[in-house]
Amino acid sequence: MSEDPEFLINDQWIVSNRGSKNPVDPQKPYAWLIEKERTISGEIENTAIIFLTNRECPFHCLMCDLWKNTTDESVALGAIPNQIEWALEQMPDVKHLKLYNSGSFFDGRAIPQKNYKKIASLIKNFETVIVESHPKLINEKCLDFRDMLKPELQVALGLETVHPEILRKLNKQMTSDDFKNSVSYLTHHGIRSRAFILLRPPFLSESDGIYWAEQSINFAFRAGVECCIVIPVRAGNGAMDFLMKKGDFNLPDIHSLETVLEYGISLNAGRVFADVWDLSQFSSCNKCIDQRTIRLIDMNLSQGIATPVECSCNHNSATIG
Ligand code: SF4
Ligand SMILES: [Zn+2]
Repeated sequence: MSEDPEFLINDQWIVSNRGSKNPVDPQKPYAWLIEKERTISGEIENTAIIFLTNRECPFHCLMCDLWKNTTDESVALGAIPNQIEWALEQMPDVKHLKLYNSGSFFDGRAIPQKNYKKIASLIKNFETVIVESHPKLINEKCLDFRDMLKPELQVALGLETVHPEILRKLNKQMTSDDFKNSVSYLTHHGIRSRAFILLRPPFLSESDGIYWAEQSINFAFRAGVECCIVIPVRAGNGAMDFLMKKGDFNLPDIHSLETVLEYGISLNAGRVFADVWDLSQFSSCNKCIDQRTIRLIDMNLSQGIATPVECSCNHNSATIG
């Protein structure tokens, strides 16, 4: 890990490295899609994701690029239900829904609590609703929302990494104990949770990236989550690109994502998924990228270990430090 006493990672530095935001419409989600996900009971079912447009997250995590599709100020009261209604009109009927808001659903300046009732009524036909939140924003608001809902509420929380020094440098403004306490709170109140875990955050070698992702999965399951999602860390938000140029960050390798997913699934402690969005950037081998992507998707859906891909790059990856 490189140490540079002159170089301080904080909100101001992270924000100063940003480019501009994308234009967004406060009355429309900035995207929606349908993806397949393996449910707790083992079926493979369609899940809708609505990416809500709202005020940017008050935290400024080092690796985060979600601010790109947010507004500077809170959206008008009623805009969030309007966005959900609009998206539901576009999409086919599915059983499960993720309401992702580029921040925390329980951040009142992003999603007004006054809108919970309307939101609950719009999504009453789903079986499951998953929202995301920073662990420090888990409190009785979650219970209030849960009590209004007909579908089962699940909450996705960013653990990121349990490496204490790296977690501090990520500027997430939390410790792994904060994460554990939030999961305990949710579990105590009968709410299932899932953890986002980073593969190779900055300042780690490839092998340490694998090690700490695996340790983080162990920690998350011990804390009580039901599902872990492993996210290979990307550049593109300004700060991460700076660190990449400086030599403090390298994109993880797709082989490492396979290794960590295999590890997580073999624990049999709950579902473990790999984030498979735009994986080509994590591979330097054109010969096997498609097969590896298919393998990862297959493992996400089967929660079993698929046959490894044979390729000459397997040898090279074994020597990546
Ligand atoms: S809490 Fe989540 S949304 Fe907010 S800055 Fe951190 S990673 Fe991004
Ligand atoms: Zn290859």
